[in-house]
Amino acid sequence: MRIIVLGGPGAGKGTRASLVAEHFGVPHISTGDIFRANLKAGTQLGLEAKKYMEAGQLVPDELTVKLLFDRVAQDDCQGGYILDGFPRTINQAQLLESELVKMGVNIDYVINVEVPDQRIIERMSGRRTCSDCGIPYHIEYAPTAAEGVCDKCGGEVVMRSDDAPETVMGRLTVYHNETSPLIEFYESRGSLKNVNGDVEIEDALSYILKVLE
Ligand code: AMP
Repeated sequence: MRIIVLGGPGAGKGTRASLVAEHFGVPHISTGDIFRANLKAGTQLGLEAKKYMEAGQLVPDELTVKLLFDRVAQDDCQGGYILDGFPRTINQAQLLESELVKMGVNIDYVINVEVPDQRIIERMSGRRTCSDCGIPYHIEYAPTAAEGVCDKCGGEVVMRSDDAPETVMGRLTVYHNETSPLIEFYESRGSLKNVNGDVEIEDALSYILKVLE
């Protein structure tokens, strides 16, 4: 099963991608997580990506596309994968399409997580993320058991620097200009499935599975 999860910043793509990946038993591949892991490890890629991420901009395709292609070529991806945060531009989608043709596979579904901008702003101001394992929390809707400590790994739970309110507005603009045209792109290919992203997280997977039936 190969699925792309699309949606604005803070729409809940990551949480949904992880639930769907677990359900189908395939890897969850998040380009944002890969960049953050590189940043944490202090690699050249991480340092390069940091400039763009902190400014709420997209990391250039030269740094993003090959990284993703190398990842999906790995052995654990042979049975499929869930892409979260890639593609983010029409150019990335076209490059992915050609790469998949070369690999002789195709995307089964594109799940578009729909959330109004106002809700996104509300959610992101309360979002906190584990700096070790990347699990997202929300101060109101999904708090950690102990303040600032990840329930899963005990890591420090903090606000991502690109979730700061001034950066969120910029990320929304980038989303509307660069990423939302992908909705029409995948609609025209017949693979788009819209899901309401404004539901309780406990219900998110069953909503998605219903839409995929
Ligand atoms: P995310 O965790 O998906 O919200 O991604 C965090 C940040 O990583 C984004 O705001 C971008 O700066 C960068 N990023 C992640 N995926 C991509 C991509 N496919 N193309 C360009 N930049 C990306």
